[in-house]
Amino acid sequence: MTKKTLIKCGWLVSMDPATGESENTDILIEDDIISAIGPQLEAPADEVIDAGDMIVMPGLVEAHIHTWQTGLRGVGAEWVSVDYHKNMHGNMATRFNAHDVYLGNLFGALAQIDMGVTTILDWSHSLRDLEMAESAIDGLEEAKIRAVFAHGTAKPPSTPEGVPFGRIPHPRERVEALRKNRLTSDDQLVTLAMAILGPEFSSWDVTLKDFTLARDLGLLSSAHVWHGYNRSMPEEEVKDGYAKLSKLGLLGPDHNVVHGNYVQDDQLKMMLDDGVSITSTVLVETHGHGAEPLLCKVRDRGLMPSIGIDTALIVSDDMFCEMRAALTFARYREHFNARESGNYPIAEIPVKTREALEWATIGGARALQLEDKIGSLAVGKKADLVMLGANGLNLFPVHDPLLSVVELANSANVSSVMINGEFQKRDGKLVYPEDKFRNLKTKFQESLTRIMKDSQFVPGAK
Ligand SMILES: [Zn+2]
Repeated sequence: MTKKTLIKCGWLVSMDPATGESENTDILIEDDIISAIGPQLEAPADEVIDAGDMIVMPGLVEAHIHTWQTGLRGVGAEWVSVDYHKNMHGNMATRFNAHDVYLGNLFGALAQIDMGVTTILDWSHSLRDLEMAESAIDGLEEAKIRAVFAHGTAKPPSTPEGVPFGRIPHPRERVEALRKNRLTSDDQLVTLAMAILGPEFSSWDVTLKDFTLARDLGLLSSAHVWHGYNRSMPEEEVKDGYAKLSKLGLLGPDHNVVHGNYVQDDQLKMMLDDGVSITSTVLVETHGHGAEPLLCKVRDRGLMPSIGIDTALIVSDDMFCEMRAALTFARYREHFNARESGNYPIAEIPVKTREALEWATIGGARALQLEDKIGSLAVGKKADLVMLGANGLNLFPVHDPLLSVVELANSANVSSVMINGEFQKRDGKLVYPEDKFRNLKTKFQESLTRIMKDSQFVPGAK
């Protein structure tokens, strides 16, 4: 039996060009799919939801998050890059066991749902074995978030006798096991990708093996890039790694580059010409770096970037904050450039508000290769949507719902969240059972207390 749900929206911000924004519009959902959108739909439904005082919008797509780090919220707020690598990968990450990763992913994913995110790319880069990977996936599946689980390897500190992590290829047998036994289909709520080291953090041999493996298995790959070549291991520096990959035909929309602030313009052009997607994490990038987020350079070429919060360790993991930071940066950059070139003041706002919501919805869906399923509210797409309470004191009265969502809203306005046709937050409360959540919080706190104690980490210290 098909379950039919009819939502009567006060305001609709669809992000679908054909529908746009409207008032008093209905959405009909059949099981997990949007089957109709229009005014006063005459459709028999099992449930009719009065969302007359709500702004209904697509669920936010968080294109880059290290969900397992959620419990270390804010501890790195005053760190620079070197502190992060020393304290996190060099120390605390080594104390995480499989259960800790499960707890971090479950709590982190529930927090994302609570804040209006329906899809994440979980860049999981502390996994030492298959058990840890399975636990990370357990957390995502239990939260019932839509997730691309990007399997990544741990980055332990080098020891005199050990092999540096940059010389160890991505473990083929582990990824193959996940693909064959668990994340077999690209139609599941949680799907598989590879969080690889790429040419900046691994040798050419490893880079080549990892890109080839992702292609062999038909998986999206994603790599952290800052400069585009390896600085940490000069003896293995792959100076033109991405150019070499391009020549070999190994770059395409199935590869995602995160950050890339110092990448030279010709390198960026080559990546974009090959179809590589770019994710900017503006809060983190401007926190710790002196080169601009790539967001605007992607936009300059008529393409759409995606955005993500990266890590709650350093910045807020509220996507409304990230979206507004990205918009603020983009506008400042255009004003600055106009002034520098003598064309100031400018006559029109240089970046429209709508664009920021595109980066946080369609842009993310495109980067995750899920645009046919999510990113906008349109007939045939999955029912992944968010309802914002329009009576919030920071939103009322609503004059233009799009402006309200991007310029004014915050995660406290998120009233209900539907993922794949099922509510995971309803009327201000997570659907996840309350008693289980209380237990989760206790276990989560215990896990983090132990990790901090074992790593002799004192919050506030470097
Ligand atoms: Zn990251």
